[in-house]
Parts: sequence; structure tokens; C-alpha cells
Amino acid sequence: MTSGPVLVPILGDQLSHALSSLADRDPADTVVLMMEVAEETTYVRHHKAKIVLILSAMRHFAAELRARGWTVDYVALDDPASTGSFTGELARAVARHGARGVQVTEPGEWRVRQAMDGWRDTLGVRVRILPDTRFLCPLPDFFAWAGARRELRMEYFYRDMRRRTGLLMEGDKPAGGRWNFDAENRGAAEPGLVPPLVPGFEPDAITQEVITLVEQRCAGHFGSLDRFAWPVTAAQAETALEAFLTERLPLFGRYQDAMLTGQDTLYHSLISPALNLGLLDPLAICRRAEAEWLAGRVPIEAAEGFIRQIIGWREYIRGMYWLEMPGLAEANHLEATRPLPEFWWTGETPMRCLAEAVRTTRDNAYAHHIQRLMVLGNFALLAGIRPQEVSDWFLAVYADACEWVELPNVAGMALHADGGRLASKPYAASGAYIDRMSDYCGSCRYKVKQKTGPDACPFNALYWHFLARNEARLAGNARLFQPYATWRKMSADKQAEYLASAEAFLTTLEPARPGWAR
Ligand SMILES: Cc1cc2nc3c(=O)[nH]c(=O)nc-3n(C[C@H](O)[C@H](O)[C@H](O)COP(=O)(O)OP(=O)(O)OC[C@H]3O[C@@H](n4cnc5c(N)ncnc54)[C@H](O)[C@@H]3O)c2cc1C
Ligand code: SF4
Repeated sequence: MTSGPVLVPILGDQLSHALSSLADRDPADTVVLMMEVAEETTYVRHHKAKIVLILSAMRHFAAELRARGWTVDYVALDDPASTGSFTGELARAVARHGARGVQVTEPGEWRVRQAMDGWRDTLGVRVRILPDTRFLCPLPDFFAWAGARRELRMEYFYRDMRRRTGLLMEGDKPAGGRWNFDAENRGAAEPGLVPPLVPGFEPDAITQEVITLVEQRCAGHFGSLDRFAWPVTAAQAETALEAFLTERLPLFGRYQDAMLTGQDTLYHSLISPALNLGLLDPLAICRRAEAEWLAGRVPIEAAEGFIRQIIGWREYIRGMYWLEMPGLAEANHLEATRPLPEFWWTGETPMRCLAEAVRTTRDNAYAHHIQRLMVLGNFALLAGIRPQEVSDWFLAVYADACEWVELPNVAGMALHADGGRLASKPYAASGAYIDRMSDYCGSCRYKVKQKTGPDACPFNALYWHFLARNEARLAGNARLFQPYATWRKMSADKQAEYLASAEAFLTTLEPARPGWAR
């Protein structure tokens, strides 16, 4: 047994000074290890902005740790001696420092957890894996909650989280008399709506250096770096959060589901990249949103809608990921086998809504929730695209994409690939929904009100094609009773017309060429 220091590896999404692995450590007896490993930047070919964000945030965090007195051993991406994997780098660091043990916060990804569980055997030193206390619902509590129920619905989990945190509670009752103000949060986009500008952050010398590195090493990856302006430190993330709370939160609820051409951010917070990396604390954010409501500066539906996303959806999604893995990664309940179309990478499609969603994704490594769910996800669901290809795409292209949050959203919420464990019915919609919530259809080559034929909005016929081909699996779902009743009332000729129209459209889809995602 050596008497060297304890090694504390900090992963790219663990950039929090309050991290559990640091909490009981003495800087005099600890070496923090940070690793930019090639395996993590290339196992899917991430958007260039996502890689820049993570590496720049890691480098800034390492500098902050050093300023606070920690010894940081930092392995850069272009270190010629790097083995390119977490396990390889950890083994090298244990030997380099003569470490007597390793202490680490549990990772956000199943694949990394598997590797971490093997460290005890491979490293020959004591390995302590601690819970990630940045999440508000410990995993054992989530498993207990899930184990006691037949149906795992977010709404009930969310109510428990309100009670647990005391957020928006008046005694044991929900503030404002209701748990959920979603009905008030369905405002459509009004043409001419001009949301406040989102603050951007000019790349500093550290970020510039990473941009150069990524342009060299990841030239063929999807996405542009021209508009890179994500916060890369906790201080910048705080500035961005403050601007959201004061300028956009008041209308966050009303326009949460809206979509508008050229308006990539609307009233959304854009906090997910910083939050998922650990630069922001979820409970602190929610307390600030609650304080805005208490001070009378935002309506209850805005504060409640926003807090529900974080203590409700975000925590629930994380619990579901760990509950359902590893099966979730392979789930394909609807047996969808169509390859991902090439236009998901190029944006070259006459479908205006999809072209816009891919454009903002390429330019910003961001699209808001309704673009992800009701445009991209809805299309993939209706067209029957293989969930694993859709998931690879979502994991690669968004700055906030970590598998624990991306996979349940894609496989569970958007594609119903989990057979309805996460969402009680598929989020399938025809063009009418997109028309109602956006201004896209007016400038689209397709006609949203036309149901079939070469000029009809493809979503219309695809919607019925989806229901028809999945009738055996979905007709028993009580929430789909009405659409199936409508389908059955249609004449055989009308049904055949819908199916032929959808088939004709599907044959035009060019599969993505290999190499975009992996
Ligand atoms: C198909 C699909 C894929 C997604 N992939 C990701 C992903 O890789 N990473 C990711 O962080 N989110 C993902 N989401 C959830 C959600 O779309 C994003 O969190 C949100 O768009 C981020 O933008 P924002 O910060 O402006 O969010 P806001 O609209 O301002 O919401 C505030 C916060 O609530 C949380 N939140 C809201 N909805 C969800 C949700 N469904 N699951 C988890 N957290 C939620 C996020 O932390 C978000 O930052 C996905 C959703 C779908 C439908
Ligand atoms: S008409 Fe259809 S394809 Fe075109 S923007 Fe509207 S919903 Fe999208």
C-alpha cells in the first residue's frame, strides 16, 4: 500500500466546486485529475461547438481549482502520451503520482459507470464511487418511487419533488391552488414577436485555443463554430441565468411551445449546457425562479412551468435513464427500421419546419424543446426511423447532450421505443399542430391543409400511416381511442389514399451517408 495522495478524477460534466468527490478532501493530500480523452470526443462525432464548450469549460474549471489551492493534473487532448481513454489515463496517473486511492463522483453515463466499476480490479488501489449530489432525487429514492408504481408518470413524481424541495408550496398545498399550470402555457407564436436577445460570451484566449484545436482535429464534424458564444464558466453561466430570469422568464410559460422562423431561442432559458456540465446548480436556479414569482415579477404559470422542467422532467428523465439502462439503448418497441435521412445533417429539405430545426442545430448546437420533440422527434416517429440512429444524431448535435438526458428523451418521449414506460402515448401529430404553433407553414413548399398528394404536407399522410402500421401495438391505448375511431370511420379509398401518399413520400428519403455520426 502506497502512501501517495488520493486521486480525484473530475469528468467533463462534473465541473462543480461542490462536487461530492471533493467535499471531504484536503487539497494537501489530493491530486485532481482532468482528462480530455479522444475516445469521449469521437465515440460519436459531436458538433464542434459541443466539443469546444466542454473542453473550454474544463480548462477554465481547472484554472479555478488551481486558484483555490488544488493540485490539478490536466491531460490535454493533444498530449502525445495520452492513451485516449479514461481508464488508460487513470492508470497512468495512479502510477505517476503513486496514488493510494481514487475517489470519484458517479458518472452520468452507463457506459462510463461500467468502466468505473472495473477500476477497482484494474488499478490495484482503493476506488470510492460517491453519489452525484447535484441531482435533487438520489437514485435509490427514484428506484423506490418507481418500484412502488405500475405506471411511472412524471406528474406524480413532480408533485413529490415539490413536497421534497418545498418549492412553490404553501404548507402541504401547491402555491396558486394547482400543481400544474400547463394549460396556460400553450401560446402560439405571433408574427412580429421580438424576444429579448440572449447574452453571448466572446471566446477568450482559452476558448480560442480550443477552437483552433477542434478545427484541426474535428474538421469533418457537423456544425459551425462561427457563432460560438456559450458560457464556459460558472460566472458567465450566472450572467446568462440572470438575464433569463429578469428578461425572459415572465413570458417563458406562454411561449414555451411556440416556434418562429429565425427566432432560435424565443423565451427559453438556454441553461441546459451549463446545467448539465455542472456550472449551475438546479436547486439554486429554481429558488431564484420562485423568488421572482414571490416578488411579483413573474406570473405563477411561468415560474411553475420552468421549475417543473427542472425538478420534474430533468430529475425524472435522469431516474428513468438509470432505471431502464442498458435495455433503453437498444429499445425499439415499434420496430422502426428506416435509416436516418441525409437531410438531418444537411438541412436540405423543402419541409420548412425541419429545415429550420436543422439550421438552428447546425448554427447553435441548440434547438428548443418543441423543435426537438414536435418537429424532429415527431418526424422520426411518423417516418419510422430506427431509434438508435436518431439517438446518435441527438447525442452528437446538441451542446447539452449527455446520454442520461438525451436517450430517455429520444427513445422514450419522442419515439415511444420503450413501449410507453416514459410517456403514456406517442407524441404523434399532423401538420396542423406545427401550423398552429409556428409561422413555418406559410413559407413552406408544401400545403399544410392539403391531406394527400405531392403538394400535401408530408406530416398529414405520415400521421395516418404511423397509426395504421402500428395499429396492433397502439390501438389499445386509451389516449389514442379518438384517432383510431376516426381512422376506422374513413372510407377504404380515403385510407388507401393516405397510405399511398405517405409511401410515395417515404421513398424520396435519401439515407444519410455513413460517417456523419460515427
Ligand atoms: C428528442 C429530445 C432530445 C432531448 N435531448 C436533450 C439533451 O440531450 N440534453 C438536455 O439537457 N435536454 C434534452 N432534451 C430536453 C429539452 O429539450 C432541453 O433540455 C431543452 O430544450 C434545453 O433548452 P433550454 O435550456 O433553453 O430549456 P428550457 O426550455 O428553458 O427549460 C429549462 C430546463 O428544463 C430542463 N428540461 C426541460 N425539458 C426537459 C426534458 N424533457 N428532459 C430533461 N430536462 C428538461 C432542462 O434542464 C432545461 O434547461 C431533449 C428533448 C427531446 C424531446
Ligand atoms: S407544411 Fe408541413 S412540412 Fe411544411 S412547414 Fe408546415 S408542417 Fe412542416
